[in-house]
Amino acid sequence: MPSTDSFHPASGQLVARDAIPARYTWDLTAICDGWEAWSALYRELDASIGSFAAFQGTLARDAASLLAAFRAMDEMGALSYRVWYYAALHYDEDQRNNDANARRQQVQILFARQQQASAWFHPELLQIPLATIRDWMVANGELAVYRFAIESLFHEQEHVLDERGERLLSYAGRLNSVPADAYSALTTADMKFPSIELESGVEMTLTYGQYRALLETNRNQADRATAYRAFHQTYADRQNTYAAMYNGVLQRDWFHARARGYASTLDAALHGNDIPTSVVENLIAVTKGAVEPLRRYHRLRRRVLGVDRYQLFDVFVPLVQHDVRYAYDEVGASIVASVAPLGAEYQRHVARAFDERWIDVFENAGKRSGAYSAPVYGTHPYMLLNYNETLDAVFTLAHEMGHSMHTLLSHEAQPFVYAGYTIFVAEVPSTLNEALFLDLMLERAASREERAMLLQHAIDSITSTFYTQVMFADFELQAHRLVEHEQPVTAETLNALYAGLLRDYYGDVIDHEPLSPVTWARIPHFFNSPYYVYQYATCFASTARLMQDIRSPENGVRADAVARYLALLRAGGSDYPMALLKRAGVDLSLPDTVRAVSVELDTLLGRLEHELDI
Ligand SMILES: [Zn+2]
Repeated sequence: MPSTDSFHPASGQLVARDAIPARYTWDLTAICDGWEAWSALYRELDASIGSFAAFQGTLARDAASLLAAFRAMDEMGALSYRVWYYAALHYDEDQRNNDANARRQQVQILFARQQQASAWFHPELLQIPLATIRDWMVANGELAVYRFAIESLFHEQEHVLDERGERLLSYAGRLNSVPADAYSALTTADMKFPSIELESGVEMTLTYGQYRALLETNRNQADRATAYRAFHQTYADRQNTYAAMYNGVLQRDWFHARARGYASTLDAALHGNDIPTSVVENLIAVTKGAVEPLRRYHRLRRRVLGVDRYQLFDVFVPLVQHDVRYAYDEVGASIVASVAPLGAEYQRHVARAFDERWIDVFENAGKRSGAYSAPVYGTHPYMLLNYNETLDAVFTLAHEMGHSMHTLLSHEAQPFVYAGYTIFVAEVPSTLNEALFLDLMLERAASREERAMLLQHAIDSITSTFYTQVMFADFELQAHRLVEHEQPVTAETLNALYAGLLRDYYGDVIDHEPLSPVTWARIPHFFNSPYYVYQYATCFASTARLMQDIRSPENGVRADAVARYLALLRAGGSDYPMALLKRAGVDLSLPDTVRAVSVELDTLLGRLEHELDI
């Protein structure tokens, strides 16, 4: 690619979007060719929503009628991706764009109408005896395509109550979001962020973003301690309120589990995806027994940082100072090269992402922050980045590319109804792409410092995406069990629970800090989405397990693993996640699958010690 118009982001100044060469911006014409074409698609969707009502009352007639309704539903769904994303992606390019925002909101209104217009579909379908639909599927191959969708709907139905029961639950539904809403109000709107003075005399207000940045970059331990204590004191000062809100979350979850006839809150949370509770229990038990590499890493950090006392505010500072800039043009070629182990076809797909402008690379004035991969059904995925030439940005690109390849292969291979996938498998391809990229970068690194920096990046992602998330899952499970066993939930019990977990996972490698037990109060996931974070850890374990075979020196093992992995990506959402992973050779109920992560951490630590010469 000619580099005559190459572009580098300058820090501190935000450029206008049109100052960035077109080849670094995404080309949305693959979704539709301009706003006029978009309006036509919008009208088409609008019309198909209107005509969907004609299917109401027909489902129980025969196989052909049910099939026709399913297909109409799919057509509507497929179209809605293009209508939504064309407006939403335009809006994210520059969120000050009122036209794009208005169109995006127009689609949201249409979606609400779509939801209303199809609300009758599942209840009417569930009125038909499952045995009847099964007979229809035997006789009608085209209807049989929908087998998993139908079976899983009936599976969910197992815990649906009669009409009176469901009505009562729907009244209670208004209360469901109160604990999370109160949490968000107290933590954002009503939050008084503390101000601190650094040793240099600089004063600063600690928002969460600034707090994290300080812990990651400030090499003065006293400053980190000041920030940590001020930040956590804010939560400690309101710990009784936070505990009351968290008790609200726990009581709500237990109320719903009991009302619907589940044995526990964990059962209730896992039933939809048909995941056995033993998976979460196995994850926690095995990880707790495999904390030695985690402790070894923190002992190493204590030594390298040369601190007397090593505390939770010391775990994020980099061990080596090594500022490499990763120019985007070179990184693109490395990303393509890094996926070579997955075969030439996969590699060609990745190359297309760069050549066909699927990626919006650099930050510009008004652009949405962060990064994502957008699964636009009917064309190819798109990726939004805010690429700033740091190592983090490079790995973010590798990560989003993994999501995009999952989308691409799934959309290609699956009918619309199974084109999407659950979070339980979603973070496998993204973290696997990161792992492959790390391998290549380590091979190519020019110096010991660069290798050490890469190794630390990989190790930190294991500690934060695996160990910390398992510890969080452990906390959630134990806290829910408090209410299930009719134990009181107070700030004191929650603090004691968290302090116990810090001891279980870190032992004595991290020195005690009086405010640490209140950490639970600042984890939004606990309040917003209970029993969610464990999935980051199970995905990480799945990736570690798959990578063992993909890195195998034996050709046969390697080829077999790659074939199974690509089949997993192509399978999309065509079965329950555990079944899909099992077919890919990953059995999350086995201790060894979970242990693959600590084995990996041990290997990386050995290499890091070598590079640091200790
Ligand atoms: Zn991701």
